[in-house]
Amino acid sequence: MKTDMRTYGRLIKEALPYWKIAVIAMLAMTATAAMEPLLPALMAPLIDESLIGKDPSALIQIPLLIVAVFVIKGISEYVASVSSQYVAHRTVADIRSEVFGVQLDLPMVDHDAEEGGRLLSRITYDVTQVGEAVSTAWMIIIKDTLMILGLLGFLIYTSWQMSLALLIAAPVVSFVVKKASAKMRRSNQDLQTWTGRLTGLIEESLLAVKDIKIFGGHDNQQVQFDRINKKLRHEQMRVIKIQSLNVPLVQILAAVTIGIVILIGTQMSARDLLSPGEFVAYITAMGMIFDPVRRLTGVNATIQRGLAAAESIYEVFDQKLDNQRGQSKTYTALPTATLTIENITFSYPGAEAPALKAVSLKIEPGESVALVGPSGSGKSSLIGIIAGFLDPDTGEIKINNESLRQWPLAKRRRQISLVTQQVNLFDATVAENIRFGWPDATDDDVKEAASQANALKFIESLPDGFDTQIGPFGSRISGGQKQRIAIARAFIKDSPILLLDEPTSALDHKSREDVLRGLENLKANRTTLIISHHPEALLSIDRTIHLATGLVLD
Ligand code: ADP
Ligand code: MG
Repeated sequence: MKTDMRTYGRLIKEALPYWKIAVIAMLAMTATAAMEPLLPALMAPLIDESLIGKDPSALIQIPLLIVAVFVIKGISEYVASVSSQYVAHRTVADIRSEVFGVQLDLPMVDHDAEEGGRLLSRITYDVTQVGEAVSTAWMIIIKDTLMILGLLGFLIYTSWQMSLALLIAAPVVSFVVKKASAKMRRSNQDLQTWTGRLTGLIEESLLAVKDIKIFGGHDNQQVQFDRINKKLRHEQMRVIKIQSLNVPLVQILAAVTIGIVILIGTQMSARDLLSPGEFVAYITAMGMIFDPVRRLTGVNATIQRGLAAAESIYEVFDQKLDNQRGQSKTYTALPTATLTIENITFSYPGAEAPALKAVSLKIEPGESVALVGPSGSGKSSLIGIIAGFLDPDTGEIKINNESLRQWPLAKRRRQISLVTQQVNLFDATVAENIRFGWPDATDDDVKEAASQANALKFIESLPDGFDTQIGPFGSRISGGQKQRIAIARAFIKDSPILLLDEPTSALDHKSREDVLRGLENLKANRTTLIISHHPEALLSIDRTIHLATGLVLD
């Protein structure tokens, strides 16, 4: 309950910038609700004066009034719906954008820990749930509450005796609804977890579809999928059952209440305490009150779903982000850099043995050091620590003898370029990929960088040269070409420190030669740490360091 209120509070804060539109929406809702009791109120004179009393003036006035009420109600309902949804969708778009931004700024450890599909389902499913909750729910809550109050006022005014029966039934109904919604909420959280797992498995399987085909992993994946799929279906059915039980339960309670009210009404009418018009008006108003009540009870499920989703979103917002969201280009690159790694020990969360044990290493400006060692010896982890993706347990990284603990991450990253085995490009043009992060780089800069990266020839042979769209994940160009675009990117960034994590190991001999020419240019005058299986055969190296399961050997 307490967290619910906090989550509500945060959602409302999110909508605060749009309060003016929200006020318009609320005024329109009030107008709509005010029209509601007027309809049954017109029933009494319609029956008592027009039909029974045959009063000629009432014969014309009442139909006109009915039309007027509906016209006002129609206009105000339109304004209420459009303006309230406007506020809701603006808010949701803000939240969606914030989730995306925060997600990119999560420390790498959290990225690694998170199931892949979870982010996708957070941005698509969770945010949509919140959207539904805020867009339909707040309108239903305000408008229907006002309607109920208006109608209730009319009912009590017409006959307090009959209304007494209604008011006794209300707490019973609300108790039932409360019980159901608590259950609903728990089931919805389970449902979201399983949806995340399903999307995770789909993503993973589609990425690895070749491996699945070659290794005959089809059945294995299918079994896993079916297991999660079945679990998801069970969870879904549980939610549906609870949701479906809610409505008939409320309806049965309502029917009993109506029966009692009619009984009291007919008794009163027999004693001339109630005119036939008033009786019909009362029953009409009572019939009208159930709709908003039902909507109001039904909206609880939407709200609970929205709150569960909002909590999962706020969980991300509340995580510790990379220590500065600043852009690295706001810092200047040092002309030269000495990179010192002092006594670094690091363990992955939950791992038994540390991935790195007391590793120390110093690289002078312009020096190229190769780091070799068997797979799993911690080479990539060390690069992750230098780049600030991972936080060491003990020890220090220093640049020009300054401890990086005091530096904002963005300042550190300004000094570092990274080229890995797996280069990620974006679905944009070649030029846009080269000036990625540095949109101000001129066309000449981009061309010069491409030339240095040994990429100019192939880029110029592409159909549109630098303006060629490279497709999703750079699918329209080869691995070696992607690698050279990544190298050109590093030329644009022009950082004094260069980290290379097996930059050519995914390539064939010919593309490797092409990439190495670009790398050789790039590493000139930079402080370079290269991970490679055969560094001597590849680049000009000043020194080779051996790493064996977390220990420096040389
Ligand atoms: P290398 O690059 O030398 O092959 P890594 O630095 O990738 O080695 O890995 C070092 C050790 O840390 C390995 O035992 C590996 O299983 C473990 N490891 C690597 N990445 C993670 C991770 N994200 N979470 C947990 N353990 C990891
Ligand atoms: Mg590695």
